Amino acid sequence: MVLTLNFMTTNVLQSLFALSGKPTALHIGVGVWLATVCNLPLWIALGKIVDTSSLGGTAFIFAFCVAIAAANTALLSLFAFGPWRRLVLSAFIVIAALSSHFMLTYGVVIDTGMATNTIQTDIKEVQDLLNLRLFVTVLLLAGPPLWWIWRTKTSSRKFGQVLVWHIGTVIGSMMLVVSITFMAFQPLASTMRDHTKIRYLINPFNSLYAFGKSIKGSQSLSASELLPVGQDARVSVADQRNEDPVLFLIVGETARAASFPAYGYERPTTPRLSGRDDIFYAANAWSCGTSTAESLPCMFSPLGRTEFLSRSQDTENLLEVLQRAGLAVLWLDNQSGCKGICKRVPTAVPSASPEHSSCAQLETCQDTIMLSGIAERIKSLPAESRKRGTVVVLHQMGSHGPAYYRRSSPERKVFMPECTSSALQSCKQGEVKNAYDNSIVETDYFLSQSIQWLSDNSGSSATAMLYVSDHGESLGEGNLYLHGLPYALAPDEQKKIPWIFWMSAPMTTQLGISPKCLQKEMKEKSISHDNYFHTVLGVMGVQTSIYNPTFDVLSSCRR
Ligand SMILES: [Zn+2]
Repeated sequence: MVLTLNFMTTNVLQSLFALSGKPTALHIGVGVWLATVCNLPLWIALGKIVDTSSLGGTAFIFAFCVAIAAANTALLSLFAFGPWRRLVLSAFIVIAALSSHFMLTYGVVIDTGMATNTIQTDIKEVQDLLNLRLFVTVLLLAGPPLWWIWRTKTSSRKFGQVLVWHIGTVIGSMMLVVSITFMAFQPLASTMRDHTKIRYLINPFNSLYAFGKSIKGSQSLSASELLPVGQDARVSVADQRNEDPVLFLIVGETARAASFPAYGYERPTTPRLSGRDDIFYAANAWSCGTSTAESLPCMFSPLGRTEFLSRSQDTENLLEVLQRAGLAVLWLDNQSGCKGICKRVPTAVPSASPEHSSCAQLETCQDTIMLSGIAERIKSLPAESRKRGTVVVLHQMGSHGPAYYRRSSPERKVFMPECTSSALQSCKQGEVKNAYDNSIVETDYFLSQSIQWLSDNSGSSATAMLYVSDHGESLGEGNLYLHGLPYALAPDEQKKIPWIFWMSAPMTTQLGISPKCLQKEMKEKSISHDNYFHTVLGVMGVQTSIYNPTFDVLSSCRR
């Protein structure tokens, strides 16, 4: 294979030289640049897998690189044509440079989940990701080819001639890809099979595939009608309560179980919760996805992870079933939105109200602002529904990165010094941990304040709080940062989540729960977001054929 490759390389270089000044010379040049410079994360990853000290290993990497360059050239020759030529070439380069930056800086890969997150991002999230390192990387990776593209004069050849060159380049490049695949089939197939991460690193095909799949998936789902579920939902008469019961569903953001003392963490990140003996921790709780866009719709869905991922039609969610049962439902958001879950229930964004304009301007509104004015917000819900029960979702900003230092107020900054950059690799790992841990201290404060509010305002009503994070986070372990790796590749830090439950004495009586049994049950059972839907229905006493007590975390401890 090595001799054949040497021969082929000479031919490729000769052809490249002969092509300079021809209509597709730019396409070939950009194709090679994308394959080599813009694929740095791929070559670093392959360098760790393949034995580069052997001739065979080096030849394999070289052949892989030539195949990607040829595939890029074919792709560019197909799409970068006529008046759009420069724009299309530039777009490919900028996309590849940006994804290289994120892969190099945070160890993420570009898959469908990441594409969906990017599509659903907002200006605040984008601002958090902007830093000097991003500008320098993009300038180095995209600057030279962009300069070349925009200074090259437009060809004066006739359309027919240019077309022939494009068709010829596509055919020639594809023949090269096929020949290399054929020659290096065995090592190529085994590398792709044994190291699935590699396929998500190939620029710019990873982005094209992921964004294409994400857009196609969301289009086909949004085109289909919403499947109604729990149409028979009602709050049972036998279960009618004396006064308005209230449940706070606190949706955590980017909180990993590994940073909570209840899950074995050695630092006191939850001083307020740790001092209480009426808190129930699920010792083994797992998220549905590794990003907000994946986890949120899945945890509120009745389907469970496996069915949710293979669904061809979207169903109504937990909030719609609660509302149909006659309960009052309210979604409060301190995040970048509810990913479509709260579309059909009342919502409010407390940081948008005038009294919070100062923190909103600084983008440092801590989650406790969701509690200010909450009594009035609840009172504005229909009184008839509130009699049956109220469910308030509080969607946290939590520990959303990479700007962790913005996620805690000065009073909660117990671990210092903090990393104050969003380029996490430029900070010491201890400083990244400090900033992240302070955000958990802030969450601990928010959860305690929420419990306090429920205790103070409930009177004799049954009240409860269920805090579950959407996914976890990597903080530099294995050189990985943030979250969003494909589920099969993601480490436990991104998937193991805190699941914390508190209930008032009237709620304990109303549900007929044995606290001792529940402590034991939650310590021993392995649960996931699959349990969320049914547990909430159980707490609010909603009867419907879709409720499955097997998935209700509390059901086996009810008398
Ligand atoms: Zn999230």
